[in-house]
Formats: sequence, structure tokens, C-alpha cells
Amino acid sequence: MSNHLLSPSFDNTALAFQYKSDAALKKARFLFKVMSNPLLVQVGTRLAPLSIKMGLPVKGLIRSTLFSQFIGGETLAQMIPVAARLGSFQVKVILDYGVEGKQGETFYDEARDQFVRVIDFAATQPNIPFISIKLTGLSRFELLAELHKRMISINKPLLERYELALNQLPPLLLNEWGRVCSRMEKICFHATSKKIAVALDAEETWIQEPLDALCAIMMELCNKKAPFVYNTYQLYRADRLTFLQSMHAFASSRGYISGAKLVRGAYMEKERKRAADLGYPSPINPTKEATDLLYNEALHFCINNLNQFGVIVASHNEESCLLAYNLLVEQGLPANHPHIHWSQLYGMSDNITFNLAAAGCSVSKYLPFGPIEDVVPYLMRRAQENTSVKGQTGRELGLIQKELVRRAQSA
Ligand SMILES: Cc1cc2nc3c(=O)[nH]c(=O)nc-3n(C[C@H](O)[C@H](O)[C@H](O)COP(=O)(O)OP(=O)(O)OC[C@H]3O[C@@H](n4cnc5c(N)ncnc54)[C@H](O)[C@@H]3O)c2cc1C
Repeated sequence: MSNHLLSPSFDNTALAFQYKSDAALKKARFLFKVMSNPLLVQVGTRLAPLSIKMGLPVKGLIRSTLFSQFIGGETLAQMIPVAARLGSFQVKVILDYGVEGKQGETFYDEARDQFVRVIDFAATQPNIPFISIKLTGLSRFELLAELHKRMISINKPLLERYELALNQLPPLLLNEWGRVCSRMEKICFHATSKKIAVALDAEETWIQEPLDALCAIMMELCNKKAPFVYNTYQLYRADRLTFLQSMHAFASSRGYISGAKLVRGAYMEKERKRAADLGYPSPINPTKEATDLLYNEALHFCINNLNQFGVIVASHNEESCLLAYNLLVEQGLPANHPHIHWSQLYGMSDNITFNLAAAGCSVSKYLPFGPIEDVVPYLMRRAQENTSVKGQTGRELGLIQKELVRRAQSA
């Protein structure tokens, strides 16, 4: 592995958009302009799910706009050319089967089987080393909330409070939870046997405890030799750096590698609103600067202990992505070290992804796929994020505009 790599510059738009035609770029410019209008996004995010439920003919419109920007396709077969195209620029894929909002035991079992198929598919592709999963796709939300509520009332380390909370669960709920665990086990064991890593998404704070506990158990079972299971740490939470450190201490004491996908967190407004409505202190940092600081401290911590961590720098923040790169270089470690990986969402921050790839880093697009009606909640989050995240839309638009001008001048 060579360490003589160029430091990535995120300003190179020719590299960033090399996989997009002029027409695709112009379409992206149009979309980001629309998303920069909060009123349009507010109306659109309310109307779209409703229209689909009512069977109104809006799928075509969604398919040719938000869907084509942020989603790889509707089926696994449609992922093949998308992944191959990214692969031709040394960009990898975290494949995300975008099921959200469906309920029922039959559906959860089907989702498990679909995840197994996704793993089998990933194992046949040269550049899909990860899949991502959401526990709310395998479990009833209310069950997670119930277990969470019981766990936080016990002042013990994570796995001890988990065991104690399980002992208190009524038999019906315990059986239901047993089925969730076996779905998760099936997915993690199958993935490990195929050498595909599984990243478990972080969700709302009021269901997160059982996710953390189950993920820690899976990591101990699957991560003895290499990181195959990753938990997600939301650094917009004031308590998550301490939690990350305690999970690292636990993993070291049990002799396994901690998988840590580091994100800032996607549910800030919802979290703050719930805390205000129910009258408890918000778990979210008071300022963006505090979140940035914690995120970067988490990076320092993980990269300083890289032999015991598998890290995914899941961020569109240029400073954090560059910091991770520089910390590696400072330690004399190669940018393609097997324990570090960068990832950005498909359709966003191509300047980071493609420039990191050109600098020799292991980097991916987080690529969701699924039928339109199933990925609508994901699309609505992307639309809202691009309206509410200060600067993100402006950043995307500025880069796209710069590249269109560059292409026009060099034509
Ligand atoms: C590959 C990938 C996987 C992801 N997986 C998950 C996941 O599993 N779970 C999840 O929750 N999110 C996930 N996200 C989304 C992520 O949490 C962020 O919402 C998104 O990436 C924006 O943060 P950023 O680091 O890219 O950059 P930035 O644009 O620098 O940061 C924006 C983020 O900073 C935080 N923030 C903004 N304003 C404030 C404020 N006033 N006070 C405190 N904090 C503030 C918020 O978290 C906001 O989203 C994922 C993102 C990526 C790229």
C-alpha cells in the first residue's frame, strides 16, 4: 500500500462530475434550485406520500426528478450498471435496500430475506463491500420504544441494562423481540460469511438503546478478525462521544474490533421538537459548532485507535472528510487502510467522493434502491435536508454551476 498520495482537493469539479452528462448536470441544477425553496419542499413533502397512497399518477414525476437524483433504481438488476459506472472511477457502493414505514411480521421476514438477497448480490459485485440496514425495517417501532424505555430506567452498562430490561418484558413482547434478534443474526452471519460488511443505521433517540445493544452483540460475534458489523454514532448527540469511547473499551476487553460509522445525525428538528413537547432536555448539542467539534473529536479518537476500529466517515462536511485523511497521513497510514472508509449519499457531495477516490481513499456512494412507494420517506428526508441544512444546497448548486461553466468554456 502506497502512502505517496495527493491530498484531495474538493474544488475539482471536473473530477467530481465526470460521471454525469451535461443533461444530467442541468437536471441536478434544476432539482437543487427547486429544493432551495422551503415552501415548495414543505408542500411537496406533504403531498407526495399522500398522492401515492391515494393512487394518483405522480410516480412518473417522482421517478424523473428526486428518484433519479438520489436513488439507484427499483431493483437489484438496475443496480448493476450504476455500481459499475461508479466503480470505473474507483468509487465503491454501500447498498441500501430502502424499505421504510412497512409493518407486520410477514413483512419483516420478507425484508430479512431481501437483505440476504442483497448480500448475495453485493458479493458478486467487485465494488460493493457494504450494505446498510435499518432495524425499523425488521421490527415494530413501538417494540423498540418499549424496550428503550425500560433500558434507560436502569443505571448499568449497556449490555447489563439490556439483559435486565429483557427479563422484565412480558412473554409476548419477549418472543417478538426474539424474532427481531434472529432476523438481525441471520443478516449479520450471512454477510460475514460472504465477507460483506453491514452498517446499522442510527435512528431516533427514543428507540436507539436496543439498536445499540443488539449491534454490540452482533459485533462481538462477527468482528473478531475484521470489522463486518458497524454501529452508527450520531455526533449531534451530546452523549455519543463518551458512548463511542465506552464501546471501544468494551470491545477491547472482549477482543473484537468496533465498527463505527460516524454521522452528525439526521433527525435534529424532530428530536428538539419532541424534547420540547414532552418537557425533557434536548439530547442534541446546542450549536452546530458543538456538533462539529464532537464529530472531529470522534474522528481523532477512532483514527488514533485504528487497529481496534473499523471507521466509516459518513459525512458531506469537507473539513471532517479532509481531517480524517490528514490524521491518517500524520500517522503514516495509507489512505486505503482497510479500517477506514468514507461515504457520501448518492446524488450529493460528488466533489468529496470523486476527489477522495482520485487520492486513493476507499470511498463510496451510499446507494438506496427500491420501489418508488417504499423509498418516498427517504426522498422526503433528502428534500428536507437540502432545504434545512444551512449551506448544503448552495454548496451543491455552486459546484454544479462551476462545472457547467467549465464545460461550456472548454467545449
Ligand atoms: C453515508 C451516510 C450515511 C448516513 N447514515 C445516517 C444514519 O444512519 N443515521 C442518521 O441519523 N443520519 C445518517 N446520515 C445523515 C447525517 O447524519 C447528516 O444528517 C448529514 O450527513 C449532514 O451532516 P454532514 O456531516 O454531512 O455535514 P454538515 O452539513 O456539516 O452538518 C449538518 C449536520 O450538522 C448538525 N447540525 C446542524 N445544525 C445544528 C445545530 N444548530 N446544532 C447542532 N447540530 C447541528 C445536524 O446533524 C445536521 O444534519 C448519513 C449520512 C451519510 C453521508
